[in-house]
Amino acid sequence: MLEIKNLHATVDGKPILKGIDLTIEPGTVHAIMGPNGSGKSTLSYVLAGREGYEVTEGSVLLDGEDLLAKEAEERAAAGVFLAFQYPVEIPGVSNTTFLKEALNALRKSKGEKELDAMQFLKLIRQKAGALNMTDEMIRRAVNVGFSGGEKKRNEVLQMAVLEPKLAILDETDSGLDIDALKIVADGVNSLRRPDRSMLVITHYQRLLDYIVPDVVHVLAHGRIQKTGGKELALELEQKGYAEFGVNEAA
Ligand code: ADP
Ligand code: MG
Ligand code: MG
Repeated sequence: MLEIKNLHATVDGKPILKGIDLTIEPGTVHAIMGPNGSGKSTLSYVLAGREGYEVTEGSVLLDGEDLLAKEAEERAAAGVFLAFQYPVEIPGVSNTTFLKEALNALRKSKGEKELDAMQFLKLIRQKAGALNMTDEMIRRAVNVGFSGGEKKRNEVLQMAVLEPKLAILDETDSGLDIDALKIVADGVNSLRRPDRSMLVITHYQRLLDYIVPDVVHVLAHGRIQKTGGKELALELEQKGYAEFGVNEAA
C-alpha cells in the first residue's frame, strides 16, 4: 500500500532524510521511534506534502500512485491524514463546521455527494459518541480551550470522520496523561481496519503499550536503522538509542 523508496529530503537546504526505505501493508500499524531531531516529524510532513520540505531523491507510492507528484490537498483526497503534533486552534469556527467542510471537500474531490447538515450531524454524533465526546465538545470552536487530552481526542475524531487510507500520528503521546493516552489509543485502535494503514511516530515507548504496532522501526541520522516487532520498542525503552550512535536516554 505505502511504498517509500530511498527517500531523501531537505529542509532549508539541509539534508534531513537520507534514504528512507519503508513499506507499509494494508491493515498494519507501523511505529517509528527515534531520538529527538532524527527526522521523524520531517518524514510525516514530507508524506503529507507540507511546504518547505523538499524531496531530493527517491519515491513514495500509495496504492501504486505517485504521492510526491500530488499537492497536499490531493494527498488528503488520496487518503493521507496527518494528525499534528501540536493541534491548531481555530477561534470562531466550530468543530462541527470545520469537520463538515473538511469532509465535504474530501467527498467532492472524490466525486462523492456532499453531506447536508442533518446527515453530517448524525455522522459526527455517532463518531463523537464512540469516543466519549460530548455534543458540547463538538460544538465548541476547534481546539480552543481544549485540554491536551481533548485536543488529542479531537484528532482521533477528525480521523474517524475523514476515514483515511493512511493515518500518520506524530508524537500523539506528547503531553498526555495516562488516562488521556488510553482514550486516544482506544480511539486509534477502534479505527484499525483491514484497508487502513497507520504510521505512529513517537519518541516514547509508552504509547506503544496501548497501540500495539505490528512493526517497529528505529529512525536515526535520517535513515531507518533497525526494524523489528513490537518487542523492539521495549528494547529501546531499556537500552536507549546508544547503539545507533545517539547519546540520549529513550
Ligand atoms: P524529530 O521529529 O525526530 O524530533 P524533526 O524532523 O523535527 O525531528 O527534525 C529533524 C532535523 O531537522 C532537526 O535537526 C531539526 O533541527 C531540523 N529541522 C526541522 N525543521 C526545520 C526547519 N523548519 N528549518 C531548519 N531545520 C529544521
Ligand atoms: Mg522532536
Ligand atoms: Mg517530531
